[in-house]
Amino acid sequence: MFVIRIPRYWRSKGFRYRLEGYRCEKCGHFHHSPRLVCRKCGSRSIRRDRLSQTGRLISYTVVKSSTPLFEQYVPYVVGVVKMVDGSLVVGQVTDCDPEELREDMQVEVTLRKIRVDGENKLIQYGYKFRPVIE
Ligand SMILES: [Zn+2]
Repeated sequence: MFVIRIPRYWRSKGFRYRLEGYRCEKCGHFHHSPRLVCRKCGSRSIRRDRLSQTGRLISYTVVKSSTPLFEQYVPYVVGVVKMVDGSLVVGQVTDCDPEELREDMQVEVTLRKIRVDGENKLIQYGYKFRPVIE
């Protein structure tokens, strides 16, 4: 069974909680974790940044059969969202019935409980997407 270690989880909380990461000032490439050198262009000019907090659902699927880690949440929706800044982010879509979903609908980031790790009882929070109520 896959268990995420607490230090590793803690280091990635900026991205998991707020879609916060590190952007190269030379080429614009976004990194999820701190880096001294841009993976794409080699620049050392990197600053902390956040992805857009809204985007459009470009594709999704309803998960009806899952691994034991997420079995209790079945059925749930996982989608690919194109953020306003052009980034593609995969995440769970919540706060709606799967029948209400449609491609190109506007969604926003929200912080939610992802799961409870059975081994160390760590409650993992992270971003999910929800439809924007207009
Ligand atoms: Zn770069």
